[in-house]
Amino acid sequence: MLNWSRLCPMSVYCQSCGEEINEDAEICPECGVRQGTDTGSDSVSGMEGNTLVNTIIGAVVTIVVGFIPVLNLLSPAIGGGLGGYLQKEGAGGGAKVGALVTIAFLIPLAILLVVAGGLIGSLLPAGAGGAGAGAAAGGIGLIAVVIIAIPSFVLSIIGGVVGGAVAGE
Ligand SMILES: [Zn+2]
Repeated sequence: MLNWSRLCPMSVYCQSCGEEINEDAEICPECGVRQGTDTGSDSVSGMEGNTLVNTIIGAVVTIVVGFIPVLNLLSPAIGGGLGGYLQKEGAGGGAKVGALVTIAFLIPLAILLVVAGGLIGSLLPAGAGGAGAGAAAGGIGLIAVVIIAIPSFVLSIIGGVVGGAVAGE
């Protein structure tokens, strides 16, 4: 018996009527039924979605672990590590997600600390400096974010590299 799929690799068969059609044909010329496309077109957009989803998962885990005593010191490494592991793009992809995780959890934290600082300042009695004290408290909140940001980036990128390496390419 001849093996047509081996001898004639450019030919496929219509999914509906079974007629032999060109491999590149999107629609069967015999019956007009659209052929299923299992090309990699959706894997690209899927990967972009995964980066966003993995970043959000990592950031949420970082914030949640941040409320647990002792473990909170390592929360960026845990969140970044999980994001990097879920990314499944090796150490490089893990580092990228790790950095994104830190940005994702620092932005709400920065807003919170600056608002809280301003609020504390505004609650101080006028004799203590009023608006000036509020601005100073907000500035202290901002400095606190910067102080938190540096080790957080280092930890979450290390976590992301380890997580990505464990998950593999
Ligand atoms: Zn057909």
